[in-house]
Amino acid sequence: MTILCATCGVETAEPLPAETCRICEDERQWVPLHGQVWTSVEEQVAGGMHIDIVELEPDSWALTSDPAAGIGQRSILVQTERGNLLWDPLGTITDDAVEQVRELGGLAFVAASHPHMFGVQCAWADALDATVLVNRRDASWVVRPHDRIRLWDGEVDLLPGVRLIRFGGHFPGAAVALWERGSDGEGSLLAGDTMQPKPDRESVGFMRSYPNNIPLSAGVVQRLAKQAAGLRFRRVYGNIGGQVIEDGPAAIAHSAQRHIDWVTGVHDALT
Ligand SMILES: [Zn+2]
Repeated sequence: MTILCATCGVETAEPLPAETCRICEDERQWVPLHGQVWTSVEEQVAGGMHIDIVELEPDSWALTSDPAAGIGQRSILVQTERGNLLWDPLGTITDDAVEQVRELGGLAFVAASHPHMFGVQCAWADALDATVLVNRRDASWVVRPHDRIRLWDGEVDLLPGVRLIRFGGHFPGAAVALWERGSDGEGSLLAGDTMQPKPDRESVGFMRSYPNNIPLSAGVVQRLAKQAAGLRFRRVYGNIGGQVIEDGPAAIAHSAQRHIDWVTGVHDALT
């Protein structure tokens, strides 16, 4: 049985290590009004939860669950000739979805942009014989230790044209996956919410907490924007469903300057 927190969708070890989910107790998340709720993949599936898999662009697929599991992220599967990456795994897994992913070439690696997106990462890795990559700086947030987990840091060339890059900010180990062949060969940035694409499709946010609205400092946002400026990509895909369609680097640069201006008081006269 795969036990997970119903609020964040992150799998946990049995027996339950704590009464309250450690990830949700943190100031970046939240615990429901009436207290902690644990669930299991078996309970989700018995309740009718299923997973939809649709093509995002050639060689990449979006996985979503209905109803939403945990935070409700969209996972992205990237296919390469040397195996596939499952990015920001869902907080659920079904036999049907495993079979579909197997038909798409299976999984070599499972990796998340940050601990809120761990989902049931080890359950996916077990089902498809994959390795789970966790950034070393966020290893203390792993609440289901597993022998499939490998720690990484800095940059890792994971698969042909797929690189994991630590950015930090939202979490010390917050990361992106740069997929060079995405966006018709111009590169796609799978950004999780290390830089979160917004509903206007032309800007991103930089926050320590998105649900509790805790901003990152001007200095950190400047650092993230500078790091992004060194990468080649067009689209930016977020973890909840948002995306920047065109000119991702310009969207990040513009959003960073706007954030910095607001948190340093440039626009105080407008408030
Ligand atoms: Zn939780």
